[in-house]
Amino acid sequence: MLDRSVLVLNKSWTPIAITTVKRGFSLVFQNHAHIVHPETYEMHDFETWLNEYALPAGVEPPVGQAWLRTTTLQIRVPEVLVLGRYNGVPRRELAFNRRNIYRRDAFQCQYCGSRPGLKNLSIDHVKPVSKGGATSWENCVVACVRCNTRKGNRTPDQANMPLMTEPAKPTWNDGVGLGERVPPSWAKFVRG
Ligand SMILES: [Zn+2]
Repeated sequence: MLDRSVLVLNKSWTPIAITTVKRGFSLVFQNHAHIVHPETYEMHDFETWLNEYALPAGVEPPVGQAWLRTTTLQIRVPEVLVLGRYNGVPRRELAFNRRNIYRRDAFQCQYCGSRPGLKNLSIDHVKPVSKGGATSWENCVVACVRCNTRKGNRTPDQANMPLMTEPAKPTWNDGVGLGERVPPSWAKFVRG
């Protein structure tokens, strides 16, 4: 339970990191962060969290919530924390690879908008390699096999196939860095 993931927001409520429950409790205990209630957005320090979300051992906690059990006490596990002072967004490099391009484009063909499944998707160079196009965040998009074949060795203009969105380098807190599985309690804090 102490290894579960907790989403960390900066002072402006922008997601900047994922930590463990153990480390999260320690941040709250030292007054560096508050616990954010995932449904009401209420902010709690350690004491008010214990007042409202602790139960004696042996009492059955609400279903569907994660609770940490000690010998005398059960405490609801925090899912989201907000830092008290830090307001920056750390530069976090996302690896440029196929998986992250798929995530950035949400597994959707950037030409026709279809989501035909991974098997029928490919990576397209917007400006073809043969015409000097780079293999980069700005020049690679997800395309279904059909669109990729149709476009062939042409630019979107030449093929008359406009892109749905201008490809750009994603940032960690677009959700790309969080992976495919964002827990429901985090979803409203994550863009995209
Ligand atoms: Zn397509």
